[in-house]
Formats: sequence, C-alpha cells, structure tokens
Amino acid sequence: MKKLLVGLLTVAMAFTLTACGTKKEDATSSTKKKIGIAMPTKSSQRWIDDGNNMVSELKKLGYDTDLQYAEDVVENQVSQIENMITKGANLLVVASIDGEALSDVLQKAKDANIPVISYDRLIKKTSNVDYYVSFDNFKVGVLQGQYIEEKLGLKDGKGPFNIELFAGSPDDNNAYYFFDGAMSVLKPYIDKGKLVVKSGQTKFDQIAILRWDGATAQARMDNLLSKYYATDKVDIVLSPFDGISMGIISSLKGVGYGKSDKKMPIVTGQDAELASVKSIIAGEQTETIFKDTRVLAKQAAKMADQMIKGDKVEVNDEKTYNNGNKVVPSFLCVPENVDKDNYKKELIDSGYYSEDKLK
Ligand code: BGC
Repeated sequence: MKKLLVGLLTVAMAFTLTACGTKKEDATSSTKKKIGIAMPTKSSQRWIDDGNNMVSELKKLGYDTDLQYAEDVVENQVSQIENMITKGANLLVVASIDGEALSDVLQKAKDANIPVISYDRLIKKTSNVDYYVSFDNFKVGVLQGQYIEEKLGLKDGKGPFNIELFAGSPDDNNAYYFFDGAMSVLKPYIDKGKLVVKSGQTKFDQIAILRWDGATAQARMDNLLSKYYATDKVDIVLSPFDGISMGIISSLKGVGYGKSDKKMPIVTGQDAELASVKSIIAGEQTETIFKDTRVLAKQAAKMADQMIKGDKVEVNDEKTYNNGNKVVPSFLCVPENVDKDNYKKELIDSGYYSEDKLK
C-alpha cells in the first residue's frame, strides 16, 4: 500500500512538473508572440513609414514582428502571407495590393486560427478579416473637394474653371471612397457648368490609375494636355495621391505651366509625402491630405494587442465598410488638409517632419 502511495505521488509530482514546464513555456512565448505585417510597396514613403511605425509600436508592446513588402506584385504578397502563416504568426496585419486577391490565403490563416487586421485598405470578398483600421476615406475626398471649392470661390458663384479628374487604383477600395467623397462636393458645380471637364472623362473607369503609378498618371496628363488644352488652360487637377500628383506636375511643367504667364493649376494630393510637401513649399503642388501614419500604426498595434489578449477591441465605425461578405468593424482616424499655410503647424510642430528634411 505504502509502495503504491509513493508510486502515485511520484506520478503526481511528475505531472505537476510537466504542467509547470508547459506553463512556463506559455508565459515565455506569450511575451514573444509574432505579428506578420504585409505592406504593399516601398515605392511610396507612406508605406515605409507605416511599416516602421508598426514594428516600433508592436515592439513597445512586447511583440516580435515579421515585416514584408511586396513591391506591388500581388503574387509576392500572397506568398509572403503564406510564409507568415507557415512560420507561425499569431496575428496578421495586411495592407493589401489587390483587395480582392487574398481570399485563398486568408482561408489558410483562418484554418490556422490566425486573426487578421486589414490595414488602411479594406480586404474584400472574404469573411476572414476581423477588423479594419484606416482613416475616414470618404472624408479624404471631401477635404480635397472642399479645398478646391474654397480656393476658387465656387460657393460665391465664381467660375467657370477647367478641371481634370484622376482617381486611384481600381483594385483598391479606398480609391472609390476618395473619388466619391471628392465628387460629393464637385459634381454639383460640374452639373451647373461652373467646373468644366474638357476631356469629358468623369467616370471612375476613365480616370483610374492602376497601382497609383505616377508614370501612368503623367502619361494620361500628357495626353489630356495635348488633346484638350492646346489653346486653353487647365485650372484644377484633382489628384488622389502625392505620387500621382508628382507625375501630373511633371507633365504640366513639360508644357510650360508654373512660369509667369502660365500659372500652375490647383493640384491636390494625399499622404504628405516628403517630395510633395517640398513641392507645396515651392509653389507647385497645392495641397495634400495628411494622414498621420504614427496615429494609424499606434491604433493598429493597440487593436492587435487587444485581439491577442482577448480584450474588447476598440472600434468607432460598425456600418460603413462592407467588404462584400460582411461589415468589417473599423477604427477610422481623422485626415487633415495641408497646404502652404498650415504645413508648419501640421507637419513640423507635430514632429512628423523636421524642418531641415523639408529643405
Ligand atoms: C491609401 C493612400 C495612398 C494610396 C496609394 C491608399 O490605399 O489609403 O493613403 O495614397 O493607397 O498608396
């Protein structure tokens, strides 16, 4: 009997030790959970900042990170995400290239119980996306439209002015929100003849720029200028993104805009990228939309941490972003208009850029 008791005790102790051992391992691994971050491209400053900010925010919260850029090639992004899954990521943060191309790979994430946060761009046509963190994308377009409205005095009945329209990549959900937001302000003036689109190209499909590519935008602008503005002047170009604005401005300068007799038109933009802010200071690009990537990354990291810990995840919009499969609960940050008059306050005083970087 005594022997049996000793035997049982030994077994019990062994179990306890194993249990402690497992627990200890869990504790260690929970401080080192790994988050895969899939970013679209390094060809634009904002995504580089987004990636770096995400890594530093997640590190502060005690996570390991695996940051990958896919250089705007959809297949690269899919295989990078596949790799993150195989390597045992605990959560994925994805800024998609093509929002509709990730259904299969995210099914694999789901099968491996890996939650997914859609970062800045909505991932569509899958139920395997848990949260969305972005800016108010419709508002971005509204701000661009209102800027044009105010600068030209459209509300006071001024006009007509010639405008040409550009939109972003058709595979990026945001592109439609930006365009619809801008048109919610501009279309009534187009309808009244106060804004004239001489090319007649006002439909999204006619004005979209695949992958937000500056060179494609420049080629389209060259075309518009030679076809419709040989004898007339364009007064405004609605551009959804700084990289596109840079292409448009090169084209405009190529035919003499920006010289004394041929004023640069109003050219909008987005992202407050360094080259564009310098261009704004130099009087070429007119405005940009500042979306503080530090704020976005901080919020995304916070949501990832809340998800991993099983805490309540903070959202502020549960109705806008239907991805074709479900409404994805979202947290939307606030975009700001920036031009020559307020860039110092918004970008320098806030510490986003140092003054010498803008020289
Ligand atoms: C982002 C914009 C960016 C654009 C091009 C969009 O999805 O929201 O901030 O300008 O992609 O990179």
